[in-house]
Amino acid sequence: MKLAKLDSAYEAYLIIGDLSLERRREVMQVNVAQLLKGDIGSVRDYEVDGVIDVTGDGKGSPVRGEVSLTRTDRSILAKGVVDSGVELTCSRCLNQFNCPLTLNIEEEYFPTTDIVSGASLPLSDEPDHFTIDEHHVLDLTEALRQRALLAIPMKPLCREDCAGLCPDCGHNLNLGPCNCPPQKADSADMNDKEKGK
Ligand SMILES: [Zn+2]
Ligand SMILES: [Zn+2]
Repeated sequence: MKLAKLDSAYEAYLIIGDLSLERRREVMQVNVAQLLKGDIGSVRDYEVDGVIDVTGDGKGSPVRGEVSLTRTDRSILAKGVVDSGVELTCSRCLNQFNCPLTLNIEEEYFPTTDIVSGASLPLSDEPDHFTIDEHHVLDLTEALRQRALLAIPMKPLCREDCAGLCPDCGHNLNLGPCNCPPQKADSADMNDKEKGK
């Protein structure tokens, strides 16, 4: 169910084309001025429905999910689960496939401008933190992109039981057997048994 939804989002994006990339990036920029004025512990739920360029190749990956934004004593904590997907090459059969990714984000965004006085705030000394810009806009794009990069499997498989390619003729065994003589593995077993006798 989840997968089907993701596929259709991806296909919809492919139809819309690259023109929508910039526009849909804006969708992941949230003005948090009200939240910054609110009490510590105030929460705003934000629905993510956009596109990120995960690998920098100009191809957009859809991102969809819900992120809660919580006002803390020093920042806004963005936390949530977002579905995405990237086009990868299967490490066994070398086919391209759309690999679903689940992105768990939990990032603190520090304000750079005081919400009341408008004065610049000193940068936080937290390593690798994200910031809220001088217009009180929090941009989820880079956090999601980094999570997506980390979520990409080292050895991508188009499916868990991908049959791969025939080592002799290169036929994609997911499409059915090839015409090569059967199973070297079996004859190796036979040889071992014969040796054992
Ligand atoms: Zn495969
Ligand atoms: Zn073969």
